[in-house]
Amino acid sequence: MNLSDELQQAVAESGARLHFRFPAWLRPFVFRGITAITIGRRVYVRTADAPDGLERLLRHEIEHVRQINRIGLIRFYARYGVEYVRHRRAGMTSWDAYRAISFEREARAAEEVQGDLDV
Ligand SMILES: [Zn+2]
Repeated sequence: MNLSDELQQAVAESGARLHFRFPAWLRPFVFRGITAITIGRRVYVRTADAPDGLERLLRHEIEHVRQINRIGLIRFYARYGVEYVRHRRAGMTSWDAYRAISFEREARAAEEVQGDLDV
């Protein structure tokens, strides 16, 4: 897997461990359409054949690893769940509720970093 220097550095600094397939035990829990999931420092990416957005996807997931490093695993998933439920109770669709989670907003912003630097 050829990753840019910038991304390799981000992986090293965050302590993220990349896996280019989902483990068997995780598959029943992974919804169709999900291409990556981060559990602690482990980042699982669905496929080894690089999608065009792989670097973008990895920047997103590595941001989640940084968030977990910052506040701890338990608090990360607790807040993630609380925010999701709060958004659903406020009437948002499942997709919108997920997108509005503060950690997801932050991770989406992190996707853009490289592009901004290139301009
Ligand atoms: Zn995310």
